[in-house]
Amino acid sequence: MMIASWVESANLAEGGFPLNNLPLGVCSAKDGPRRCCVALGDQVILMDVLDSAGLLPDAAKGLFTAGTWNAVIARGDGLWNQVRERLIALFRTEGLPDLREDTRLRAEALVPMADIALHMPFDVVEYTDFYAGRHHASNVGTMFRGPENALPPNWLHMPIGYNGRASSVVVSGRGVRRPWGQLKGKDQDAPIFAPSRRFDFELEMGAIVGPPSDGPVTVAEADDMIFGYVLLNDWSARDIQAWEYVPLGPFQAKATATTISPWIVTKAALEPFRCDAPARELPLLPHLRDVGPANYDIALEVALAPEGGAETTISRSNARELYYSPAQQLAHHTTCGCPMRSGDLLGSGTISGAERDSRGSLLELSWGGETPVELPGGGTRTFLEDGDTLTLRGYAQGDGYRIGFGDCAGQVLPALDDPYKRN
Ligand code: CA
Repeated sequence: MMIASWVESANLAEGGFPLNNLPLGVCSAKDGPRRCCVALGDQVILMDVLDSAGLLPDAAKGLFTAGTWNAVIARGDGLWNQVRERLIALFRTEGLPDLREDTRLRAEALVPMADIALHMPFDVVEYTDFYAGRHHASNVGTMFRGPENALPPNWLHMPIGYNGRASSVVVSGRGVRRPWGQLKGKDQDAPIFAPSRRFDFELEMGAIVGPPSDGPVTVAEADDMIFGYVLLNDWSARDIQAWEYVPLGPFQAKATATTISPWIVTKAALEPFRCDAPARELPLLPHLRDVGPANYDIALEVALAPEGGAETTISRSNARELYYSPAQQLAHHTTCGCPMRSGDLLGSGTISGAERDSRGSLLELSWGGETPVELPGGGTRTFLEDGDTLTLRGYAQGDGYRIGFGDCAGQVLPALDDPYKRN
């Protein structure tokens, strides 16, 4: 059920930011300082204002002044859920009168979303990207190795991943420049250094680690450690990737940028949408076994808009397609003793569905460039072109309300003339 608010815009059935959600962001007015905020309808709640007015739990005192949510994330669900309960009490219809009946304080604490800019909601401490979507792994494997060897022999036993670059993670809205790199075509003997011709997106979810760990953690402990989720686009240069990935996996192909949505949707908001993982083809080893529903039913969409052109939805998928849950990914990450830090970001891997129109990358949608995707407004795409804006969207559908993530968007900027030219 939707929790009705006296902030009327929060009560829209498809608005994405009802009181049930309360996702965490960082905003600023033009040239102003960065401030921790929470989305509610078409407004944001400035958390430092509520804290200064003494309206938040004492345990959270002073945690909202840094312009990033890391201090709250480090404290985990326990503290956030206290703050969340207080926000619900303050903003629900017929709730606590402190804010609702104080016009001056209300005007200070609530700012229209249209009047602010959004920034990175947290400092990404480290970044790992997994490969936990079975349809994506099968599709890519079929293209590269043939249908008999689509899944590597390890794939059904553990979530495959690689260590990425926290420094490359950017918030929605930032342009992403087409990278240069070493490219090698089928008929070339030697690589050339040139702008990527096969620049692509990947539809993923990102999980954010709350309290840190030191040593192996169980799947259940990992589930408790995760603080919340964002949408994540792992921009990928397929031609750079094809040449460099043997034998150590992706490197420069994935290091240009990774875009995340501006709002951290917390586990409490997503709790009603837990669901089971897809059926297990082989039993998992005991340390990775399922311990209850740890996937989420989140509808996902990908839209592409050419520069100055209309937007087309080119894919529709769902986060429940992940073969390994975020908790299983995190548990596997710690098996060798690897310590996890608060503010670690774990990309899920591309979340493709079984159907052609549910594929989560252009590599799959165009089947390696062989079948261009038609854009109804005119034109086709095999890979991204300069000026294209790629937007990921996602929501969990509740009874009369939606839990939204906000857009995860980025525009492809043309490659530099020569990245090594010095003035
Ligand atoms: Ca990826």
